[in-house]
Amino acid sequence: MIGTGSAFPRHSYNSCYAIKNNGGLMLVDAGGGNGIFNAINDSGIKFADIHHIFITHTHTDHILGAVWLIRGIINMSKDGENCGSLHVYGNSSVCNALRVICQLTFLASDYALFTKNVELVEIAEESSLTINDTLIECFDVYSKNVAQTGFRMTFDCGEKLACLGDESLTEDNLKKIKGCDTLICGAFCRYEDKEIYKPYEKHHHTVRDVAILAEKAKVKNLVLVHSEDDNLENRQELYRAEASKYYSGNVFIPVDGGRLVF
Ligand SMILES: [Zn+2]
Repeated sequence: MIGTGSAFPRHSYNSCYAIKNNGGLMLVDAGGGNGIFNAINDSGIKFADIHHIFITHTHTDHILGAVWLIRGIINMSKDGENCGSLHVYGNSSVCNALRVICQLTFLASDYALFTKNVELVEIAEESSLTINDTLIECFDVYSKNVAQTGFRMTFDCGEKLACLGDESLTEDNLKKIKGCDTLICGAFCRYEDKEIYKPYEKHHHTVRDVAILAEKAKVKNLVLVHSEDDNLENRQELYRAEASKYYSGNVFIPVDGGRLVF
């Protein structure tokens, strides 16, 4: 877990994480800026090992870190380092936004290296791809405010992991995670703190809301991210206590740099 914070974190980095399988890494989202470099270092990940980045949607707290990673690989290439290609996966809005932002904000000579080192892979709704020999089935998470892509990932052992970007598990996307063992999704705050953080105004949901549906979906492992970070020391304990009232599986409330093994 590279970052676990929401769009405006105060004590953490924006939610993004790396999934390691078959010896390869896939980054899911990149947070909102060049803090991504420190965040990946703190997570024990080498920048040179990142060749696949899945961006769920165009919001600043998910996509702008990717602009810096693209700039990073262009710099390595200019320095003559053999860094391999960077494959960035996203829906058409994500690919267009990255192309335009990089073109408008990079030196022309750097942007010229974009196509040489970076492959933007546009994901169609309900399509699948293979990354690090692993099947990734993409789907619309039915976010209310932006086109957002989630995915199911099937590992060699048969276990399935689903990721919903910063969207919570909802009645709308519940069927998309059918049969999945592990779910990583957003939970903005505890239900009892809803008046403080106002999650529903931001199209987000609470730990309780997600826990109720996760029980219905029978997922074994529930990983909650994209949360308020006012009380990081106690967040794990408090969120787990609320989730366990409604959900009988394993609850993971990670911190930045934390490592989860399933
Ligand atoms: Zn977000």
